Amino acid sequence: MRTAITNARVFDGERVLDADTVVIDGGVIISVGAVAPPGSEIVDARGSTLLPGLFDAHVHTSEEALALALRFGVTTELEMQGAHTKPNRTHITADDGVADVRSAGFGITPPGGHPSELFPEDFRPGGGRRPVGEIVQPFSTTPEQAAGFIPRLVETGSDYIKFMIDDGSVEGHPGLPTLDRATVTAGVAEAHRHGMLTVAHTLTVEATRMAIDAGIDGLVHLFVDQPHTDELVDLIAASGVFVVPCVVLNASMMGITGDALADDVRVSSRLDAAWNETLRSSFNRYPQGKLDDVLRSVGALHHAGVDLLVGTDASMPLPFLGGLAHGASVHQELQHLVQAGLSPTDALAAATSAPARRFGLHDRGRIAEGKRADLLLVDGDPTTTISDTLNTREVWRRGTRLGTA
Ligand SMILES: [Zn+2]
Repeated sequence: MRTAITNARVFDGERVLDADTVVIDGGVIISVGAVAPPGSEIVDARGSTLLPGLFDAHVHTSEEALALALRFGVTTELEMQGAHTKPNRTHITADDGVADVRSAGFGITPPGGHPSELFPEDFRPGGGRRPVGEIVQPFSTTPEQAAGFIPRLVETGSDYIKFMIDDGSVEGHPGLPTLDRATVTAGVAEAHRHGMLTVAHTLTVEATRMAIDAGIDGLVHLFVDQPHTDELVDLIAASGVFVVPCVVLNASMMGITGDALADDVRVSSRLDAAWNETLRSSFNRYPQGKLDDVLRSVGALHHAGVDLLVGTDASMPLPFLGGLAHGASVHQELQHLVQAGLSPTDALAAATSAPARRFGLHDRGRIAEGKRADLLLVDGDPTTTISDTLNTREVWRRGTRLGTA
């Protein structure tokens, strides 16, 4: 069935096009700006804006969470620690009722290192589908161990390699065992020899510098322990890394709950009780932090030309991981980026074309002929009023309209 979306404002992932008609067929976009072919199903999108499906470039996920994300127009989630490596997600790749996913598998960290401090002693992650492929837990304290895990992570289907660099100082756990410089450097070098993209969990300036010195490709958090300096921003910009600042997570770490987002009926109407309660909670592990510093750092990085990607760190519906909800928090992150000084179109690019480009997912993230028909249609104009992204009208995942999957 051929579908023509007509009379739409079209944001292609970078800018608003002159075209107002997009035709999809067989799961892909077959034309942009051409006349709707006879016999097409017509979706008259007058007053609405068509966008590429959104990315969340930092999650820990599940099938239930991927379904929730899709209801908010998020068509791809990038997992930064979890089980959704290549052999473990074939059912998800094929299911147009949930968002698609890519995964680091498990991150390289020392025994007892981050994220073990986040979980209560008696916590046992439960439920969910049993992984069919092997899950490698790459606990490393030496350069040899970290390098030795790289081929195993590649073989078991990790899409990119994650390094945890966290001494616990902003997690309420000072003295946490952490990777040293030599171990990160050896791991990144070995990952690059295998052609893998590398990312690091870095919440402090010191960890940020270590990751950049090691040659990392992306930082999947922002430093929150100090205000930025021109020298640090220049260093990050010159390195060419991308940054996923996860402002919503930083706010939660500082004790700011997701109440403001949960009070929006466009959000609460799509969340069950467990996710509502989670969103209305917070991590509250770094109450001394300053969100204004975070927003100023984000603005400075953008001004310096650093690629910023929208990510949330949403994970499970548990209050101690609160302030976040899959899908919903992507929209709040977009609002934070605009608050930090990005234009609405730059913020939207950070959730569409930029993550596709930086993670090598060249089949999506743009509205162009031949790209996957992962699309979000919203009422209003988020290219001028960013919160209009929550006015969801339709979501298509690989050409399948949500609700008809
Ligand atoms: Zn995370």
